[in-house]
Amino acid sequence: MLKMEGVQKIYRTDLVQTHALRSLSLEVEEGEFVAVTGPSGSGKTTFLNIAGLLETFDGGRYTLDGKDVSRLSDRERSKIRNVKIGFIFQSFNLIPDLNVYDNVDVPLRYRGLASGERDRRIKEALERVGLASRLKHLPSQLSGGQQQRVAIARALAGSPRILFADEPTGNLDSLMAREVMNMLEEINAQGTTIVMVTHDPELARRMHRNIHIMDGQASDFEDRSDAPVDR
Ligand code: ADP
Ligand code: ADP
Repeated sequence: MLKMEGVQKIYRTDLVQTHALRSLSLEVEEGEFVAVTGPSGSGKTTFLNIAGLLETFDGGRYTLDGKDVSRLSDRERSKIRNVKIGFIFQSFNLIPDLNVYDNVDVPLRYRGLASGERDRRIKEALERVGLASRLKHLPSQLSGGQQQRVAIARALAGSPRILFADEPTGNLDSLMAREVMNMLEEINAQGTTIVMVTHDPELARRMHRNIHIMDGQASDFEDRSDAPVDR
């Protein structure tokens, strides 16, 4: 589903250049739910942004869903992102003055879908996260866990092939975190590949596999290269 070979990312400012990724090589199979762990500053968010086609990189090769996406124009990257990729962020990233329904609609408008099709997808996604009765609420009128579920619905409405989550439970108490994790597991069980950055070793243990990033390079906790794919 996702394969990086020797990916490098260098951030340059006037005075310093930072090798955020030195030579990152890793693979995620279709249907996996993997955790990406590693110390602060090791390159996890940089990896996720590159994998999610939000950022470009400086060397190496990246193949997503069978297509080499190493050297694409901004427009091509944005098109693939809109069709294949969903994002969930630690800070939810909902638009504060749009209600629940309109927040979920945002990426669907990006994709230029007809309003009837958008309406169907929005309601189905909100149904799936248990918020069908909160369509008119503003984000500020919801709990943190509910806001994250709106963000999950927004990602789901686009029927992504792969979902990238950056510390999705980082701002939630343990009960809400568990609720969000259960939801992600359910989504994964229905076929969406999920790559989740987390600091929480407890959560990481629940995943199929952990990819550990240290100093811009990756290693697997366990070698599953010859293990059968679970689904
Ligand atoms: P993590 O998510 O593991 O904490 P990041 O991917 O955010 O790590 O950062 C990796 C390295 O790249 C860090 O040294 C960080 O300071 C640097 N970095 C990240 N984003 C930028 C940026 N926009 N400009 C300059 N340096 C950056
Ligand atoms: P475009 O190139 O299609 O105009 P942008 O690159 O301006 O899109 O995206 C703006 C922001 O919207 C991104 O930084 C990202 O956080 C968010 N975004 C884009 N696509 C998606 C998506 N499919 N799901 C969730 N958020 C998205």
